[in-house]
Amino acid sequence: MATRGEIEATLNTLLDAGRFRDYGPNGLQVEGRPEVCRLVSGVTASRALIEAAVAWRADAVLVHHGLFWKGHDGRVTGWLKQRLELLLAHQINLFAYHLPLDAHPELGNNAQFGARFQWRADASFGDQGLGFVGSAAQPTTAAELGAALQRQLGRAPTVVVGDGRPLRRIAWCTGGAQGYFEAAIAAGADAYVTGEISEPQAHYAHETGVAFFACGHHASERYGAPAVAAHVAQQFGLEHRFIEIDNPA
Ligand SMILES: [Zn+2]
Repeated sequence: MATRGEIEATLNTLLDAGRFRDYGPNGLQVEGRPEVCRLVSGVTASRALIEAAVAWRADAVLVHHGLFWKGHDGRVTGWLKQRLELLLAHQINLFAYHLPLDAHPELGNNAQFGARFQWRADASFGDQGLGFVGSAAQPTTAAELGAALQRQLGRAPTVVVGDGRPLRRIAWCTGGAQGYFEAAIAAGADAYVTGEISEPQAHYAHETGVAFFACGHHASERYGAPAVAAHVAQQFGLEHRFIEIDNPA
């Protein structure tokens, strides 16, 4: 058992939450009951995840994508009202960490994603150093890397092959980090792996020869929240369960 405050203080310190300029508030987003025994982790605080947490009688939920983002006008209506109503009615604490959860050097989304492919980062790039770059265990091809991503993630990536060079230096950043592609190229990458692709990246890949892989925003961000939650659960003797809510994006 842990108190809500102990969990929040632990997460803030572990994830160095104060260091980041982010798109929404990191930390406790919705206050629930004061004591926590059961902790759910998930990617996004969607209604489906909250309903699953209610069904498991969770005391707290830890997610990467919380409820509040820059640009939202603050009205508690529609989907936001429904999600909040469920959390408040069942006194579930909602902890959300966005960029801090991407960036943690061992438990974060990027580190956990890279570890599944034996990529070890030796440098960072992009805004706030969020992108990771390192050498593959052995040089690979776009076809091999695409197949490895599909095996691990259970979905086919969108691949824009580069100039066919051996892929030695891999840059990656989970989620919607297609905008870091040019920074990845400048960091010396032979391939860039992220969650999403937008129109310009296909041209940059053709014109620079650096291969681009978009393997799913959700699919690429499934590993950080459960790793962090498991760490905290072990520290305080909590029950923990990661709940996967499928998302095609
Ligand atoms: Zn994301």
